[in-house]
Formats: sequence, structure tokens, C-alpha cells
Amino acid sequence: MPTPERYAVIGHPIGHSLSPRIHAMFAQQTGQAIRYEAIDVRPEQLAATLHAFFARGGRGLNVTVPHKQTVLPLLHALSERARRARAVNTIVDEMAGLLGDNTDGVGLIRDLRANLRVKVEKRRVLLLGAGGAARGVLGPLLALRPAELVIANRGDERAQGLAREFAGDGTVRSQLMTELTGEFGLIVNATAASLQGTLPPLPAGLVGRTTVCYDLAYGLQPSAFVRWARGQGAARAYMGLGMLVEQAAESFWLWRGVRPQTEPVLAALRADGVTP
Ligand code: NDP
Repeated sequence: MPTPERYAVIGHPIGHSLSPRIHAMFAQQTGQAIRYEAIDVRPEQLAATLHAFFARGGRGLNVTVPHKQTVLPLLHALSERARRARAVNTIVDEMAGLLGDNTDGVGLIRDLRANLRVKVEKRRVLLLGAGGAARGVLGPLLALRPAELVIANRGDERAQGLAREFAGDGTVRSQLMTELTGEFGLIVNATAASLQGTLPPLPAGLVGRTTVCYDLAYGLQPSAFVRWARGQGAARAYMGLGMLVEQAAESFWLWRGVRPQTEPVLAALRADGVTP
């Protein structure tokens, strides 16, 4: 067995991260010799930690809250999807320097389409939130040609800005959460409300019998959003565990050139009680 190559996820806090477990399962499944750890990095340590990690032979990093945006100026190049998302969750050590990429959007789309068989094309889609995660999934969702995509945030300014920026990608507009009307085919919660155990201020009437609801948050219990969706009569309601595993698989592929199977990893996490 060759000496394992080093990878890590950096964030603050990071103790809760499932990424080391996911990548260990990918490595075992594909026979890749890697070591993947979680490193707690406070904002003021970001530049020094990044440089030290790669100077000591590190091959790739995942980046999570609160560094996804602040890491951008420390990189040599950005992929197109990271540039549009203005956020990086994967760093690849390339010959020319450090490349920043963003696999969150493709992770959500793979989970929706390949794992959950959710149709996005020609449906009304509601995207809740206008932060980093919303930015990352907006372009990939619009690429699937929904009938329209409405972005709703607590205040309208950030949502309006996003709708303007992505106007060339499809039919997209913003609306205040409290003023939303009509049923949607797909509702994606990209707010941080679930992390706080709360629900965005949503009116009734958005969920119909065929509506699919998807919360980007993941954890051991169904979130307030998933409980709300079920209470409103949604056809299906999911949390973001599948997206987490799929974005990790895309990172693994970028680093190792090997695509792991995600289903056994998802099954193992579900067996441990993580809510899909
Ligand atoms: P940001 O901090 O960048 O954005 C947070 C967004 O949530 C903003 O739009 C903010 O609104 C809104 N918000 C915060 N609190 C509330 C609340 N109580 N009610 C309504 N809206 C609220 O966070 P991220 O975009 O990075 O992350 C968002 C979520 O996505 C998190 O739960 C994160 O765990 C999850 N995520 C999951 C991934 C996965 O792989 N499954 C990958 C990436 C993210 P405002 O602008 O008004 O402040």
C-alpha cells in the first residue's frame, strides 16, 4: 500500500463534520490510499493553515462555514461554477497552483435527480435563502429549465441581487417570503433556519399534493422545515444528507480521478440514524 496522501476539511466549528467518515468510506470502497481529517481553523488562521497544509504535502481540502467565501483571494484560480457561486468548497492542488471549485450545486442536482428521481424541468421551483448555499445551487437548478424559479429571503435585497445576476440563466425572480403565493412543484430550503431549529416565515398554500420539499440541512432529527412540509401535505420531504454525500463524491473525483458509489455510503449513514 503506498503512503496515504493527505486531505482535510477546514471549518469552524468542525467537530460535527461527517466528511472524514464519508471520505474514509470512499477510499476503502475504491482502494485509494488517502488520509482525510477535520481541522478546526479560526478565521484569523485561514491563510497560514492553508499554506502550511499544502507546503507539507497536502493534496486537497474541503472548505466549510465560515471560510467558503473568505478563501477565494488565497487561491490561484477558480472553476466556472465556483466563480459564479462566489464560494469554494473544494480546493485541488494543481501544477499551476491551488484551484478553487464548488461541488455543492452538482451535489444537490445528483441527489434530486439520480437518487430521489425528482423532476425539476417545467415545475415551479421555490428557493428559500440567498446566502452561499443558495448561490451555489441556483445556476445548476436553472440549468434544468424549471417553469420559473422564485428566490425568497427574509429581506428582499439579497434575493433581488441574486435574481438579477442569474437572469440570463432562466426565468428567475425574487419575492419576499411572507408574500409568496401559489403551489410550487419543488421547494428547496437553503436558509440557515434549520441550524437554529426554526422555520422561515412561510405562508400557507405553497405546498400541494405533488410538491417535493428539500432541506439542505442534515442531522439526526427531521428539521422544522421537513416537519412543516409533511404537515402541509407534501408528497415527499427530504433533508440534505444525499447532497452532502454527492458533493463529497464530486470532490473525491476531482482529487483522485475515481468516482465512488454513493448509495452504500448513504445507507451506512442512514443506519447510524442520520436523517436523509
Ligand atoms: P449563509 O449564512 O451563507 O446564508 C444563510 C441564509 O439563511 C441567508 O439567506 C439568511 O437570510 C437565511 N437565514 C438565516 N437564518 C434564518 C432564519 N432564522 N429564518 C429565515 N432565514 C434565515 O449559509 P449557507 O448558505 O452557507 O448555508 C445554508 C444552509 O445550507 C445551512 O443549513 C447549511 O448547513 C446548508 N448546507 C448544506 C449542504 C449539504 O451538502 N447538504 C452544503 C452547503 C450548505 P439573511 O440574508 O436575511 O440573513
